[in-house]
Amino acid sequence: MNNAIEVTNLKYTYPDGKEALRGISFTVGEGECVGLVGPNGSGKSTLLLHLNGILPDSIEGSNAVTIHGNLLSEGNISSIRREVGLLFQDPDDQLFCPTVYEDVAFGPQQFGFPENQVRATVAHALSLAGLSGFEKRSPHHLSIGEKRRVCLAGVLACEPKVLALDEPTSNLDPRGKRSLHEILQSLPVTKLIATHDLEMVVELCARTIVLDNGMIVADGPTSELLGNEELMLKHGLEKPHILRHRHPH
Ligand code: ADP
Ligand code: MG
Repeated sequence: MNNAIEVTNLKYTYPDGKEALRGISFTVGEGECVGLVGPNGSGKSTLLLHLNGILPDSIEGSNAVTIHGNLLSEGNISSIRREVGLLFQDPDDQLFCPTVYEDVAFGPQQFGFPENQVRATVAHALSLAGLSGFEKRSPHHLSIGEKRRVCLAGVLACEPKVLALDEPTSNLDPRGKRSLHEILQSLPVTKLIATHDLEMVVELCARTIVLDNGMIVADGPTSELLGNEELMLKHGLEKPHILRHRHPH
């Protein structure tokens, strides 16, 4: 299996001096779906922002992120951004167009797709996200769950080979969550999903990485890690209900 993502000794300190990542190393194979869990402030979002060089100083000097064998650099940043679709934790950081259509069309238009292909791609992405009919709505007047689905549609419209999703199910209602699970299951791409939704991790991710205080504290089979009550409690998490009946006390 080739590696889609390779992260080697990634360290990151915010300009105010907060050390958010303290030497993170892991690889994700092509097609793998990996859960990224950990308490608030453990560095999940900061880590995902490094996968396509969003953080201003993450491109230069670090030599820590490789996507499909290519070291992230100034020269290949735009092609890497095309390969890695990043769903931001806060939808308001992602949405900036007056209509849902324009927002979702932005990526494919940047890629220079002809207009009829853009339209078809947007229609498909909106239907995957359960948003057909939302084309003319203003993203800023949608509920937060709807906004999150617009962001997802925008990411899917770019047809990335790697999905880096930051808390994709937060603010979604149960139906929205189920349909997101189905969408993600149906996409044969590499996925790294930062989330507190441990039930989703159990359902979708064979492997989980546990982050705490900017370090990887565990990396292994989801059932083993999330079924380990002591490990979960130690890192501010809890054993998901769906794993409880598997190890009755
Ligand atoms: P998580 O996504 O796991 O909740 P984050 O990556 O958002 O964690 O944050 C990791 C650490 O970095 C936290 O201590 C957080 O307060 C800090 N942090 C996040 N964003 C910034 C920022 N823009 N400036 C300074 N510190 C930040
Ligand atoms: Mg976060």
